[in-house]
Amino acid sequence: MGSLLIKNGRLVTVEQVQQKDLLVVGEKIKEIKDSFTAEEIPAGCTVIEAEGKYVFPGIIDAHTHYFLQSRNSTTADDFYTGSVSAAFGGVTSFIDYAGQFTGLTLAEANQRRREQAEGETVLDFSLHQCVYSLHPGIKDELAELKQSSINNLKIFTTYRKEGYMLAEESWEELFRLARELKLLITVHAEDNQLIEEIWAGHQSRTEVPPHFHPILRPPQTEYRAIIKLGRLAGQLKMPIYIVHLSSREGYQAVKEIRASGGRLIVETVPHYLLLNKDLLQERQAQKYIMTPPLREEADRQALWQGLQEKGIDLIATDHCSFTVEQKLRSNHCREILPGIPGSETLLPLIFSKGVRAGYFDVRRMVDLLSTRPAKVFGLYPEKGSLQVGTDADLVVFDPKKEVRLADAQQHSAAGYTPYTGIELQGYPLITIVRGKVIIKDGNFYGKRGSGQFLPAQESSFDQG
Ligand SMILES: [Zn+2]
Repeated sequence: MGSLLIKNGRLVTVEQVQQKDLLVVGEKIKEIKDSFTAEEIPAGCTVIEAEGKYVFPGIIDAHTHYFLQSRNSTTADDFYTGSVSAAFGGVTSFIDYAGQFTGLTLAEANQRRREQAEGETVLDFSLHQCVYSLHPGIKDELAELKQSSINNLKIFTTYRKEGYMLAEESWEELFRLARELKLLITVHAEDNQLIEEIWAGHQSRTEVPPHFHPILRPPQTEYRAIIKLGRLAGQLKMPIYIVHLSSREGYQAVKEIRASGGRLIVETVPHYLLLNKDLLQERQAQKYIMTPPLREEADRQALWQGLQEKGIDLIATDHCSFTVEQKLRSNHCREILPGIPGSETLLPLIFSKGVRAGYFDVRRMVDLLSTRPAKVFGLYPEKGSLQVGTDADLVVFDPKKEVRLADAQQHSAAGYTPYTGIELQGYPLITIVRGKVIIKDGNFYGKRGSGQFLPAQESSFDQG
């Protein structure tokens, strides 16, 4: 079995930062101690000198859409390019989504999605299972899904016409079934009724360019949806998970629900923390269209405050990449393919703009990007920890390395990054997945298809 020793790195966990040596044998973390002497290092061991560098547990992007086929298009990134690009940014596992399809049970749909990723991904992965509608037999399907090691669902409260919205009258039934089976419900929370009402007032326009997107889907839609969902979950005494929180009003709803005893687990994503709607006035503004839309400065600040006061629990990306050519095919904000690339920039952005900027420390960053998602989605401690005996998924990170983000420096098949021009201090150098170095000094050494499906346990994070 191959071995790997990371010497003198500053190992970061939620609890502490310690300078230690970390020995990997095969796929697992074998031993951590102050220092290995020359005699103690196994023969043939690869030694990585990491003095002055951080060693993080591998980053988990808990919200990705690689190889998404939707709206008669396919995303720029497939499971191979998406996972390689993520690996360059220190991501070692991701959680993607399986759709619900007529004629397939949920477990069958999930299996089909799993097979799309297997043989392609270079990172380990799990899947969220989408539920668009209920029908007789759904209970058995959910039970079967759970048997196949999927423990979380995804519902949408919008996109009615596109067929993704779970009708409001079905929420309670699904919530009850999920509670019984201990499946965690994750939600895209925007109030569809309000969105349709606002759209009714604009649909006679001949042009609806990108800067209309925030007008058509204002923060109030997020507020309303979170309140409705949160109240229902509160009555049923179960937690729910809100994906990509985008606004000050949305965060206000989170606080109100919690104040009344409701349990919400809340995710945000880098673009709502770092970008604002001014970009939608720029040339090629289509490149910045995603849903929910970019917001105001005050929203951005409210989300940072939410992270700072621990009202927001974790950060993922909602990576859903299209090429510039795909994005520019329409200038109608409701027809532009929604989504942006993000996995590769997640860790470096949150380090520079979160830790360096003083919103939280590096231990908390590890919690937000690795430990917390691992616990919430049942992958802990195999993922998201530095515990001896668990998977050696590691990032060696240089806190001093200066990088200016640029389209050409990124590896996503999108060919652009919405963060182009941003100056960073701190960047991942080495990414290790189950004991194998797959990224080192800007080069990829992994193998297509080496990533594995991760059977998930029940969620072990609940604010209770
Ligand atoms: Zn998404």
